[in-house]
Amino acid sequence: MTAVIEVSCINCDMCVPECPNQAIFMGAQHYQVDAELCTECEGFYDNPTCIAVCPIDCIEIV
Ligand code: SF4
Ligand code: SF4
Repeated sequence: MTAVIEVSCINCDMCVPECPNQAIFMGAQHYQVDAELCTECEGFYDNPTCIAVCPIDCIEIV
């Protein structure tokens, strides 16, 4: 399971500094999540914090 950022991401930067694992990086068109680094925030937050802060709700857990 990992967070995935959808193509509707507006690159607002809100989620980037919130990730405890530095798993979010700028891809070719929009931010993406490195599935090797994403732990769904386990040990840091009760729920994925990137999802909590995203203003347009474009992140999902898959
Ligand atoms: S779910 Fe947590 S660890 Fe995974 S990308 Fe989002 S903020 Fe980072
Ligand atoms: S908070 Fe949402 S819209 Fe903003 S950069 Fe992150 S994924 Fe994209």
